[in-house]
Amino acid sequence: MMKILIAGGAGYIGSHMVKQLLHGGHDVVTLDDLSTGYRDAVLGGMFIQGSIADQELLDRMFAEHRFAAVFHFASFIQVGESVVQPARYYANNLVNTLSLLDAMVRHGVKHFVFSSSAAIFGEPHSIRIDEGHPVAPINPYGASKAMVEQVLRDYDRAYGLRSVSLRYFNACGASPDGELGERHNPETHLIPLALQAASGRRENLTIYGRNYGTPDGTCIRDYIHVCDLCDAHILALEYLQGGAASNAFNLGNGDGFSVQQVVDTVSRITGEIVPVIDGPRRMGDPARLVADAKKAHDTLGWKPRYADLDVIVSHAWTWEKRLSTGIWTGA
Ligand code: UDP
Repeated sequence: MMKILIAGGAGYIGSHMVKQLLHGGHDVVTLDDLSTGYRDAVLGGMFIQGSIADQELLDRMFAEHRFAAVFHFASFIQVGESVVQPARYYANNLVNTLSLLDAMVRHGVKHFVFSSSAAIFGEPHSIRIDEGHPVAPINPYGASKAMVEQVLRDYDRAYGLRSVSLRYFNACGASPDGELGERHNPETHLIPLALQAASGRRENLTIYGRNYGTPDGTCIRDYIHVCDLCDAHILALEYLQGGAASNAFNLGNGDGFSVQQVVDTVSRITGEIVPVIDGPRRMGDPARLVADAKKAHDTLGWKPRYADLDVIVSHAWTWEKRLSTGIWTGA
């Protein structure tokens, strides 16, 4: 049993991580400022409302608890917003992450698992993106993640802080038991928006561009179940605890689905019509992002449990039905 600090544990992926760690018998402390997360999504362990920017709070927490590791989910995630408000992204995703890392260094906590992103790669140079792909982000969100990865390499060399950066492709899905799911406000992600259009909570879904260089003209993404991402975090920590060096892994299923294919899948799984309207391209969107996750399979022994898009959508649909029937107000 380990005690782990989860920064951003009230958010979408962080809350699933807390649940999974608790299920594994670990001791969890969540730090979240609730700027985008929900207190009721943190299903157990200790919860502290506060910011990773608060050095005094971090000092108190690190003095009080002997954390075996820190998992960091507390970042802003909207690609389009990052293009128009880069300051917000660099301040939170980069500067505040430095604050968290510096507290770890001060208190001698050596293991860090970082939620990085496929957005660090920008426009892909290959059909599938492996770890050898050039890092060339095309939006401030991706740039902020790439910068933290650079910081982590330097902090390892200088301070011996060992880390794994996990480059998520498109996180999606929900807890299979229906207990947790995605609750962004405003929601910007494709699958929950399509499900909201199916449930009637939203009038329609806008497809952002049909003129990309893809077979049906809509963008292609690699959709990866949130619980599979959480599995990778636990494997990454075991990897670090086994004495391995700092590393970075791409996490996806290796299958690309276009926006149109996702809409068709949502329609089929829900049995509902998804009203769609065509809109312009969204700023900062590459045409295609698909992972080559061989390194994570080979090195971490990671094997996604919910690789099928139908399963992902059906878990997310169970959650959307909870939201749309008012069990959560979704405010
Ligand atoms: N997308 C869309 N309509 C929406 C939201 C997203 O067409 O209302 C597209 C978006 O342009 C991208 C894909 O769906 O090509 C996935 O977007 P999402 O925001 O879910 O994740 P991202 O790829 O930005 O991390």
